[in-house]
Amino acid sequence: MHDLKDPKPCPCCNKDMACVYKDSNIFNGQDYGNRYPKKVALQNHGFQVRCENCGMQTCWWHYETEAIDSWNKRECDCLDDVLEALKKAHFALGCATLLDKSDICQEAYDKVDAVIDKMKKEDEE
Ligand SMILES: [Zn+2]
Repeated sequence: MHDLKDPKPCPCCNKDMACVYKDSNIFNGQDYGNRYPKKVALQNHGFQVRCENCGMQTCWWHYETEAIDSWNKRECDCLDDVLEALKKAHFALGCATLLDKSDICQEAYDKVDAVIDKMKKEDEE
């Protein structure tokens, strides 16, 4: 009766290793009555999608299809960090607007590299 979509490849590492996980007790008696029909709102089990390669994951959802939808809409968290760093670097250099990549000068790229290096080191610790 349902046609579940497959999770898309991971937006973070690009590997096609995303799997749906089910935890039979994740909601542990909590009531999500404001969001779901009563029977579903009280269920203990939930679903998430997780990348077997890099560990990126969605939160837990009551319906498997919600977990997959949320995964498929997901953009890479690390990409967000890089974009954030780009914006900061751009503003730090006194530029008014961030138009596109070609608009960013070499100095900004160097600053972004430094930020990325720093993030990598923090990840390793
Ligand atoms: Zn991944």
